[in-house]
Amino acid sequence: MQSVAKSGALRTGAGALLQGAERSDSLAKSTGRPFAFLRSSSYLRQGQGGAAQLHREVAPLKSQPRQASRGAATAMAAAVSAPEATGAAPYLDDPASLIDSVKTFIFDCDGVIWKGESLIDGVPETLDKLRAAGKKLIFVTNNSTKSRKQYMKKFTDLGLSVTEEEIFASSFAAAAYLKGIGFNKKAYIIGEVGIQKEMDIAGISHLGGPEDGQKTIDLSPGVMMEHDHDVGAVVVGFDRYLNYYKLQYATLCLRENPGCLFIATNCDAVTHLTDAQEWAGGGSMVGAIKGSTKKEPFVAGKPSTFMMDWIAKSYGIDKSEICMVGDRLDTDILFGQNGGCRTLLVLSGVTNLKTLQSPDNHIQPDFYANQISDLLGAKAPAGVAA
Ligand SMILES: [Mg+2]
Repeated sequence: MQSVAKSGALRTGAGALLQGAERSDSLAKSTGRPFAFLRSSSYLRQGQGGAAQLHREVAPLKSQPRQASRGAATAMAAAVSAPEATGAAPYLDDPASLIDSVKTFIFDCDGVIWKGESLIDGVPETLDKLRAAGKKLIFVTNNSTKSRKQYMKKFTDLGLSVTEEEIFASSFAAAAYLKGIGFNKKAYIIGEVGIQKEMDIAGISHLGGPEDGQKTIDLSPGVMMEHDHDVGAVVVGFDRYLNYYKLQYATLCLRENPGCLFIATNCDAVTHLTDAQEWAGGGSMVGAIKGSTKKEPFVAGKPSTFMMDWIAKSYGIDKSEICMVGDRLDTDILFGQNGGCRTLLVLSGVTNLKTLQSPDNHIQPDFYANQISDLLGAKAPAGVAA
């Protein structure tokens, strides 16, 4: 399973790097961060199948942009260790410098704030310290099964004081996108209640979702399925009750309703429903609809820049003054990098030090830490001391 996840991350990373390349020059200008490793037009021409080629060409450049990046921010210089020979991200050994250099911290949730239903050690104290230092805190998650309001209840149940406006789930992002473009038709949902609730709040009519979870299809000779021709968007998120009825309904809408939009809350290959193994993620549901329609979705969640752009615009935040903190390289760290933000990987979730420092990994954050409480003060790097 590990090798599958790794190769999936590589492909996703390569694809997003290629997508991000088009914006690299403007990002470099606006953030002072060099994107030299993205500028070669040869990368732009490579498809996702060119990941191996991308590996060969990027590897020799890895240490150069990291050093140049640090040089671009004097305040950050003191925060970094000497660059490793491998070009892998350094441990965050001077968190005060990082805190001083950014105004907003965006935290992924699962594997960063909590694991399942348990709070990760030191989270309340860390968030309190950052708030006391005047930092804006925002929480983002690709999990679309809950609405903002439901996530707020989870934060509250775990003893954390967070407002609804500080939470951005991909369910909210999908609804915000449709509302933002003045969408006035119906949305067909493959997904769970979180998407429905956010569509309700956004005032978007919808059908499908859990209500279609038990439906079956009679495939007797001559049978055809009717569908609503007023559906103008199919929204696909993680759905534990995906069935053939939903697949056919969504396919009909996308293939037969002119201009019907295809929106994915996220394309995560795997998710962590239990601690025992990785489970097929929202990307598997999106992939099914891609397969039947040959269409590509608009992705509202990480690592797409939509949610970052929405957050920055809504709050008037300069993205170069944001630090994205997450436990996944191919979603969280790429999300931050695609947005031109600082990035901090924590090892309290799905990524371990070995994966981060593997020669096969080409997504390097600015720093890594064991968990977010490392922001409270220097601790020994993972793998060096207990
Ligand atoms: Mg996570």
